[in-house]
Amino acid sequence: MVVQKFGGTSVADPSAIRRLIEIVRQARTRDGRGPAVVVSAMSGVTDALLGVAAAAGTARSDDALARVEQLRERHLTAARDLVPGAENAALSAHLTEAFDQLAAVVRALGVLREVSPRTLDVVAAMGELLNSRLVTAALVEAGIPAEWVDARRAIVTNDDHTRAAPQMRETNAALRASVLSVIEAGRVPVLGGFVGATPEGHTTTLGRGGSDYSGALVGAGIDAKEIQIWTDVDGMLSADPRIIKSPRLVPRLSFAEAAELAYFGAKVLHPSTILPAVERNIPVRILNTMRPEGTGTLITAEPSLDGTPLTGLASKRDVTVIDITSTRMLMAYGFLRRVFEVFERFRTAVDVVTTSEVSVSVTVDDRRYVEAITHQLSEFAEVSTEQEMALLCAVGDRLRDEPEIAARVVSVLEEVPLRMISQAASRRNITVVLRQADLPHAMQRLHEEFFS
Ligand code: ASP
Ligand code: MG
Repeated sequence: MVVQKFGGTSVADPSAIRRLIEIVRQARTRDGRGPAVVVSAMSGVTDALLGVAAAAGTARSDDALARVEQLRERHLTAARDLVPGAENAALSAHLTEAFDQLAAVVRALGVLREVSPRTLDVVAAMGELLNSRLVTAALVEAGIPAEWVDARRAIVTNDDHTRAAPQMRETNAALRASVLSVIEAGRVPVLGGFVGATPEGHTTTLGRGGSDYSGALVGAGIDAKEIQIWTDVDGMLSADPRIIKSPRLVPRLSFAEAAELAYFGAKVLHPSTILPAVERNIPVRILNTMRPEGTGTLITAEPSLDGTPLTGLASKRDVTVIDITSTRMLMAYGFLRRVFEVFERFRTAVDVVTTSEVSVSVTVDDRRYVEAITHQLSEFAEVSTEQEMALLCAVGDRLRDEPEIAARVVSVLEEVPLRMISQAASRRNITVVLRQADLPHAMQRLHEEFFS
């Protein structure tokens, strides 16, 4: 049993949905049952719906209503294309009714001039709820016995609207009753990602990009053997393709490595969204709908100790380094607390920290309060800052047990001035801080050394 989650670009239009149908058909033929299908809204639809809600709440009702009509047209056109037969009437009637309701909500919001988080969720959820209906009907039309599952009855959450947290026990029970029972009856369950509901039945959403999370929840709930995240890239890459001309596809990595890489902006998938899968040891595979024959990137709970010495490189630009020096730090306790209290006061997160006997260097991403922070720090230390710096991060589980890899990283960068070098307790990541201008060259050197 596998779960197949399709992102916005993989359901963007009828030709994308036709590719989805063939991918589902193949999985079904291979496994003899399933798969469970989770879909995003068509690409851009969630943004458009949130735009509708925002415009409606500020009395730009006409603007909002015009957008509703565009969305209606996009869905009805896809429905005519994918479901031309007798089933079209029911599908189109459903879509029409939903968009009529949305238009009514827009008019009401224009009067109220206020959009509550609860209302926002009802509007935002429409993209997934309608698209999952559409995909279900398209699968049936293509001869695959699919059944729509209402995500509001399958994913049970708290009432933290717009970023609700699932309640695991209730959700697992609901998923077994809905998704699993459909598979056991020989059909393909299809549900919208991103959407859930409170135990009282109020519609909620799981936060932007939440369909991956839904995919993982479904996989964990029905104890799938694999969760597939279908998207528009081949998988995770060994480095940023804007810097490295031909990065390698990472065939396999551990969840911990994925977490380190994602933190530095390797955007394919946010690892916290697949936590439910990892906790149950269910492998997650990233695959490309445009090239379904590829093997993608496999993410598993275990460390990936085979393959290249490093798993991937990541970087972050526009970083500011703050150096804090004080002889009062020597042999004293409480100094670091005073330093970090200042950052806390300004709600500024610190990324990398290195210390010596009399100095601390930190990097921050958010520059808004740097001036205020340095001002307060200078009450008890000497402070200097440097902008236009970058972080370069080499990630690999093998760094833990093979110290020569870290040594190689540093020696490959020997002619690049490094401001800070840090290897934290996890020891699966070594991060260097350097001038932004040196980043492309440094990344190229590392990539040549470890990936070519
Ligand atoms: N459609 C939602 C969003 O755009 C959820 C998702 O696609 O993952 O955030
Ligand atoms: Mg997404």
